[in-house]
Order: sequence, then structure tokens, then C-alpha cells
Amino acid sequence: MIPASRYAVFGHPIAHSLSPRLHALFAAQTGIALEYTAIDAAPDDFERAIRGFLAHGGRGANVTLPHKATAFALAHVHTTTAQGLGVANVLTVLPDGRIEADSNDGAGMLADMRGRLGFDPSGRDVLLLGAGGAGRAAAFALLDAGARSLTIANRTHERAQALAVALSAPGRLRTVEWAALDHCGPFDLVVNATSAALQHAALALPSSPAATHTFAYDLGYGRAARPFVEWALDAGCATASDGLGMLVETAVASFERWHGVRPDAGAALKAIRAGIRP
Ligand code: NAP
Repeated sequence: MIPASRYAVFGHPIAHSLSPRLHALFAAQTGIALEYTAIDAAPDDFERAIRGFLAHGGRGANVTLPHKATAFALAHVHTTTAQGLGVANVLTVLPDGRIEADSNDGAGMLADMRGRLGFDPSGRDVLLLGAGGAGRAAAFALLDAGARSLTIANRTHERAQALAVALSAPGRLRTVEWAALDHCGPFDLVVNATSAALQHAALALPSSPAATHTFAYDLGYGRAARPFVEWALDAGCATASDGLGMLVETAVASFERWHGVRPDAGAALKAIRAGIRP
């Protein structure tokens, strides 16, 4: 019997991860035999753990908080997107044994917005809340997708300013102090890339960024997206979505990178949505 190929997601904490379930769904959809586990690695042990996994039969891995920058640093080859961001959430062992790093968070967000939700950021005025790792990936993707303008607000304003410098898109980019958000807007798209809800903190947002045509998108999902979705609907936004579809799209893209077959994202989203608490 041929042993199933091995994959894993590394994070800290990682018990909550939906990735093992998604890859099991994809394996069932496509008939590809694989093993996909969640591995909890503390920051000072991650490099040893991932190197050991990949050296002993692991063919690829997803990487989540707080290891995305280390994952980028230990790879030998970087995709253009990963190179631009300096972080990676997908590691792949190439046929010659080198490790490739990719970042597909931004592409996953766009695939979900455009494909499932029918919203194209091209030509739109966008407000991005947050300038952490996911905010950075979202910002690059939104500018690449042709957003007309991108306004970045972050609790720590200096971090928004540093991201704006890294993005280097003169004329399309500005930062705004969080406290000044009530003088901004409305926007066509508001993206929440903060982890406030995960920290059980309230996201103090005025209604001015919202209008009846505004599309609101939270990168978080399940209960973590509830406060922002409620803000959006209370403020009168046309549509509000969580980021579960983005998570599924990033898993689909990882699976396709490793197995050369694209699973059905819609069917997986339906199955996974049924299993999480809103
Ligand atoms: P991160 O690097 O730790 O960044 C966290 C961000 O949230 C920072 O901008 C931080 O601001 C801000 N923040 C934290 N607490 C806040 C508060 N109380 N009020 C306002 N802002 C606050 O985390 P990340 O990796 O970017 O993740 C951000 C979110 O994206 C999480 O909810 C994560 O689950 C989600 N995500 C989803 C997907 C998906 O596939 N759907 C993928 C990646 C991430 P400061 O700079 O001031 O600290």
C-alpha cells in the first residue's frame, strides 16, 4: 500500500484550526489519499518542528499566527507575492528538496469577494481597518486588484504609516488616525483586518465610513466576525460578509498547489459553515 502523503498546519494556538477538516473534505471530494494534521509549535520551537516535519516525509504545510514571518525566512524559494509581503502561509517541498514559500491570503480574499460575493474592488474607494499580517496581505491584493483609493486606519497609527510606505502607491493611498474615522467616508468597501474580536475587545467604529452602497467584509469568521457585521448592518451597509469563504479559498489554493487538482470551494464552504457557530 502506498503511504498517504503528509501535510500539516502549524500555529500557536492551533486547536481551533479548520484546515484539517477542509483538507479532509477536499481529499474526499477528489479521491486523493493524504494525511493533514494540526501541529502546535511555540515560537521558539517552530523552526525545528517544521524542518523536522518537511525532512521526514512532510510535503507541504500551511502556517498561521505567529509563524508567518519565520516560514518566509526559512524557505529557499519565494513566490513574487510572498517576496512582496515578507511572510508566507504556504510551504511546499519542491522536487529538488528546496522549500518554496507562498502567501495566498490576499488572493483568497479576492477570490471570495469576486467569485462568491460578486463584488469587484476594481475602481472602488476602500477603507482597510488594521495593518497587521492579514491587513498587509489585503492591502497589497486590493491595490493589485485596481482599487481606486485605499485608506488605512490602524489602532497604532505608525504601523499604518509603515504599511503605506511599503505599499508605495502614490495618489491612491492615505492613512487616517482611528480617532478621525468619523470625518471619513463613505467608502465602497470596508475591510476589517483587525483581531479586536479575537481579543474580545470592542471595535470603536463610527457610522460615517458606511453608506447604503457599502460592502463590508471581515477577514475573521464565525463569532469573531459578529461585532463588525452587526456594525455594518446597523450603519446601513448594503452587504456584510465574514471571511470564512476567504479561508476556504486559501485552503483550496494550497490543495491545488500540492496536488494539482482544484477542489470545489462552494461545497466545502457549505459543509464547514454548517459546523461553526455564527
Ligand atoms: P495581527 O498581525 O496580530 O494584526 C492584528 C491587527 O488588529 C493589528 O492591526 C492590530 O492593531 C489590530 N487590533 C488588535 N486589537 C485591536 C483593537 N482592540 N482595536 C483595534 N484594532 C486592533 O493579526 P492578523 O494575522 O493580521 O489577523 C487579523 C484578523 O484576520 C484575525 O481576525 C484573523 O483571524 C483574520 N484572518 C483571516 C484569514 C482568513 O483566511 N479568513 C486569514 C488571515 C487572518 P495594532 O497594530 O495597533 O496592534
